[in-house]
Amino acid sequence: MDTKNLLITGGSRGIGAACARKFASCGFSAVINYRSSEDHAERVKDECLALGAPYALTVKADVSVASDVDLLYKQATDSLGFIDTLVINAGVASYGLFQDVSEEEFDRVMDTNVKGAFLVAKKFIPQMISNHRGNIIILSSVWGEVGGSCEAVYSASKAALIGMTKALAKELGPSGIRVNCVAPGVVETDMVASLGSQTLAALAEDTPLCRNASPDEIANAIYFLASPEASFITGQVLSVNGGTF
Ligand code: NAP
Repeated sequence: MDTKNLLITGGSRGIGAACARKFASCGFSAVINYRSSEDHAERVKDECLALGAPYALTVKADVSVASDVDLLYKQATDSLGFIDTLVINAGVASYGLFQDVSEEEFDRVMDTNVKGAFLVAKKFIPQMISNHRGNIIILSSVWGEVGGSCEAVYSASKAALIGMTKALAKELGPSGIRVNCVAPGVVETDMVASLGSQTLAALAEDTPLCRNASPDEIANAIYFLASPEASFITGQVLSVNGGTF
């Protein structure tokens, strides 16, 4: 029997929380990972159950730490068995002039965004290979596609995820596993709140659709890529950016 079991990293807030709710409303059980926002994660879990998820649980784990990812895998699979859908969403932003970025900041961004994706994918892929089935969706960004001024390290991390997606799609296609990327434009979440309302309004003005995205609009694109409607799509970047390019 087909399972419908989602694991989402960074599911406590923003796009990840919207994604957990979307999959729950479509009958998925959900493992909601978070790093520190326990209250937010528990609220998302309750929302998922209210929306119809057969089962939901939260797991605290820093995706950049291998032992945490081991624990995440154990708790997820002990509870749900086979995780057929993996959304690699946890990420951190970094703003500032390139010359001002410290080595520590470079490591913080790369450790979460790139190493985190590597550790999580590596841990969950063997189960998908054994089941000859699986879906992986990785969150990149418009800046990973075109580069963002004063976001060089973040852009590099998100570009790396596009390369990882395309390579993994080739490697895992013969095992029945699809791997795709969603590259959002500006999405109104905590991640961009520090930019301030004026900058967010300016970014909206630069977007052909004249606004920024909501987390739900990104969740819908992620769900599409995981769904049977996308059954012949793999190794692709779905740019959900309001027409920015
Ligand atoms: P957000 O509101 O800041 O939420 C980030 C989520 O990631 C939180 O759930 C956070 O957990 C989790 N997280 C961060 N570091 C983690 C770690 N080391 N281990 C586990 N979880 C961690 O961000 P968002 O805007 O929803 O962004 C989600 C993804 O979309 C990111 O990969 C981001 O780069 C990408 N994206 C966002 C935008 C945008 O405009 N917002 C645009 C393009 C791409 P806690 O709550 O516990 O801290």
